[in-house]
Amino acid sequence: MTMVVASRGEVMAGWYTVSCSDCGGEIPVHEGWSNPPSICGSCKEKRKNMWYDKSCESCSATLRVHKEWNNPPRFCASCKESQKAKWYEKPCEGCGGTIHANRDWDHPPVFCQECKQRNQPQYKPCSHCGATFTIPTGTLINCKKQGWDLPNRCKDCRELFKFKPFRTARETDLLNNVVWRTYNSRGQLISESRDTEGLPGDRYREHRSPSGQVIGRTRQHEGVFNHNYRETSGTDGRVKSTSRDKEGPFGDRYSESTGGSSGETHQTRTRDNLFNGKKHRETW
Ligand SMILES: [Zn+2]
Ligand SMILES: [Zn+2]
Ligand SMILES: [Zn+2]
Ligand SMILES: [Zn+2]
Repeated sequence: MTMVVASRGEVMAGWYTVSCSDCGGEIPVHEGWSNPPSICGSCKEKRKNMWYDKSCESCSATLRVHKEWNNPPRFCASCKESQKAKWYEKPCEGCGGTIHANRDWDHPPVFCQECKQRNQPQYKPCSHCGATFTIPTGTLINCKKQGWDLPNRCKDCRELFKFKPFRTARETDLLNNVVWRTYNSRGQLISESRDTEGLPGDRYREHRSPSGQVIGRTRQHEGVFNHNYRETSGTDGRVKSTSRDKEGPFGDRYSESTGGSSGETHQTRTRDNLFNGKKHRETW
């Protein structure tokens, strides 16, 4: 604090000076002022010019913005508040962790980022038609949770297999070779099988999807007590299903197969077509 000295060199009673906190210049201050200034007039003016007005992007209310702010606000306080209220928490269906979701989103996420990262969509060839299909994140997570195997057929092929019973009919191709064609209950072709001989003596029935992809081979085996059974293996050599001939309670003969991706048991019976007298095999 310094005394204020008038131009004639006399000390002016009751006045002293303080330094402007912005520029360090002297500001005369009177003892009687209850609220002495801390910045000089020109600095005050400069400070005022650092502020400008802009409109809230949502409601157009006026916002005071400082030129030195790195992130000038885009919305007014009340708009910010109502935006904040739109956020809510929900549990991740994969790990139970917390997901932040917004009420404005049409499709709030079902899984958290980590679950999505760890279960990125997989692309693999369909075991039936060979086409590449996608296993989405949700399916990957659900299969893991339920302990299920991942799907190995594309959506279209899975659809084909939905419509039971399957009907296998002995038909001939354009060259008059015998083929067994299996249709679903909608009459859509599922597969075509032919008797083939691989290495000498290795006879089997080869199954192909409508796209021509080999999907399996069935060989006749002799089991204990001369009970013959048939074993169908996939192209990887793994056994897909086993089937045995059986006799039902009314003496009807059918074959029962176990296996497949579902591990279910299916029964196949020979049926007569009442209209054309031809026989076909029906699988439930
Ligand atoms: Zn100043
Ligand atoms: Zn607003
Ligand atoms: Zn999660
Ligand atoms: Zn397919």
